[in-house]
Amino acid sequence: MSSANGKTGGCQCGNIRYQLTGEAVMLYACHCLDCQKQSSSAFGMSLIMPRDNIEFVRGAADLKTWDTKGGDGRIKRCTFCPECGTRIYHGSDRENENISIKAGSLDDTRWLRPVAHIWLKSAQPWVEIDRENCACFDREPEDRAELARLWRQQSGGS
Ligand SMILES: [Zn+2]
Ligand SMILES: [Zn+2]
Repeated sequence: MSSANGKTGGCQCGNIRYQLTGEAVMLYACHCLDCQKQSSSAFGMSLIMPRDNIEFVRGAADLKTWDTKGGDGRIKRCTFCPECGTRIYHGSDRENENISIKAGSLDDTRWLRPVAHIWLKSAQPWVEIDRENCACFDREPEDRAELARLWRQQSGGS
């Protein structure tokens, strides 16, 4: 049901196009102030997956990156389209780590169901959270393995 494999996406101007070639590890919504600033909106949606599971079918050479520091003090490398500014994914400076695809860049977003809401401490007060069906955290979750487990469960795995 919530299979990421084969889904397509891209930036707002169409210069960057990608296809997902494998399954996601989890999807969550983050209400931290950084995500609000980055998305120019109320929260960010992070579809976590192995870096190898995104294939750029257009504009790969045009992608630009911008480095900042995450809450944990580590480098957060943000990849975006230089023409229209759409953020495509966030990663670290280490090639072998999972990346966080900015899930609003997918062509079809109807299948997306976050398993968790994090940093609710700074959520905009009008945002309604489905607390019965989502794990909720005021800050950063201590154990992300639990989120991955919830995602597998929701996707029909074990
Ligand atoms: Zn673009
Ligand atoms: Zn955030």
